[in-house]
Amino acid sequence: MDEKALEQLRDWARNPGSAAILTDIDGTLAPIVPTPDAAEVSGELQRLLRRLSGTYRVVAGISGRAALDAFRLVRLKEIVYYGNHGFEVLRDGEVEVVPEAAPYKEKVEELEQRARDELEPLGAFVEEKGITVSVHYRNVSLEIGERCKRLVEREGERLGLRVTIGRGVAEARPPIKADKGTAVRKIVEEYEPTKALFIGDDTTDLDAFRELERLREEGVLRETLRIGVKSDEGPPEIVSEADVAVDGVEGVEEVLRMLTDDS
Ligand SMILES: [Mg+2]
Repeated sequence: MDEKALEQLRDWARNPGSAAILTDIDGTLAPIVPTPDAAEVSGELQRLLRRLSGTYRVVAGISGRAALDAFRLVRLKEIVYYGNHGFEVLRDGEVEVVPEAAPYKEKVEELEQRARDELEPLGAFVEEKGITVSVHYRNVSLEIGERCKRLVEREGERLGLRVTIGRGVAEARPPIKADKGTAVRKIVEEYEPTKALFIGDDTTDLDAFRELERLREEGVLRETLRIGVKSDEGPPEIVSEADVAVDGVEGVEEVLRMLTDDS
């Protein structure tokens, strides 16, 4: 790590009350494992995060998982969780949908019910994710897969939802912009830190990096730090757009330890 970044971390550790620590979870706090259900955050990282949450303005995990699922993985009540593409937040044990998305909750549920009634009997799997819904059709015939796609597209359009078709999955969500960048902005607006850092390892984390930069350019934040976690599968931008690059979850642990002012 270069001297400037080290000095910055030491300085934040001395004045933690005005700084926000924002982090991705999978691949950043928990090593990537073949099945997402088996991912785990180490006891040492939990201990560090708990300590940081006691002194910093806010510590938040921002994840593609549902907020409750993110909490199950980190298992700390002291931190805030933004989940599901930034559509929902878990704070003090309660999941809230961000206000702009809330009017679409019933519409998502209506599509979900329709998919359960019509597509589950055909073998598709309907995954309820709260404010979004996914229909998985990898394990059914091409013909039934087409029917799944058509139903989600047709109903999504009727209900005013945004539909995305992925590999073997059709997803419907509210038609508003929500990503890790919008989550970063919401946290900064709510907790009003003057400094914020974000740690991440993957493509969706670049939205958070870029939003931090915008907040600094706007003068909302005085100092920012983008910390990229190097891995074989991660995009090259996670290193090239970072101020500091670290190696894997162990590298993240080292950064968090420096932020505790133990060193
Ligand atoms: Mg990740």
